[in-house]
Amino acid sequence: MPRRPEYPVRQSWLERFDRRCLDPRFVRALEEDALETLVAEVHPGVFEFPLLSREYAEALLREIHAFEHWCERQKAPPTRPNTMNRQGVVLVEMGLEDSLYDLLDRWLLPMTRRWFAAHAGEHLDHLHAFVVEYAQRGDTSLDFHVDDSEVTLNACLGHDFEGAEVYFCGERCESHRAEAANDSEAWAWAPEVGRAILHAGAHRHGVRRLRAGRRTNLIVWARSSRYRIAHARPHLAPQPWCPACEAA
Ligand SMILES: [Zn+2]
Repeated sequence: MPRRPEYPVRQSWLERFDRRCLDPRFVRALEEDALETLVAEVHPGVFEFPLLSREYAEALLREIHAFEHWCERQKAPPTRPNTMNRQGVVLVEMGLEDSLYDLLDRWLLPMTRRWFAAHAGEHLDHLHAFVVEYAQRGDTSLDFHVDDSEVTLNACLGHDFEGAEVYFCGERCESHRAEAANDSEAWAWAPEVGRAILHAGAHRHGVRRLRAGRRTNLIVWARSSRYRIAHARPHLAPQPWCPACEAA
């Protein structure tokens, strides 16, 4: 198949992740070195905060819409983000990868460095960024899984929806992945537009069934090339953060 031409980004300000993209409360907390006043550990290993400006969330949704139409005209369907989601787009194909590196370097690393040290949080230098959608016609839920990341960002872009909560079942290494969760590990996040969570890639999770509407989220799988050179399989046992390894 011939390679399709490069997508021309309609809203060029999306090509950089500057403060216009961000919730002003987040920018303020970061610049005043007061992240802990805004970012809440809502469940062990899951940190929640307002991240995106309303303007950015809406603009990115418009851009995705334009991109999908452009793909149709090019007769080249977008690459789907992973083997589990049939809907969604990969941001590198939209020319937005550099902006996501901005997001990682400038805005997320201060948090991952502090709260994800055990998951190479200070050395995240590589990412896979995509947008997933849950809708009545399409994917309505996502099975329990782990991410191919050290740390994952999950940020809600829109729209109106009910259900599709992200449920968690505790961090596990590869060897203990199939073990049942402890009672204290089961928890779910109900996404709200503009808000985001950070969690370890090895934190097992899934998406509950969408009951109504349409939900679109931006996902960033952040990886550490240094960590991956040292560890051929990043979640391989034994791991200090895996309670089953600790108990052994
Ligand atoms: Zn383990």
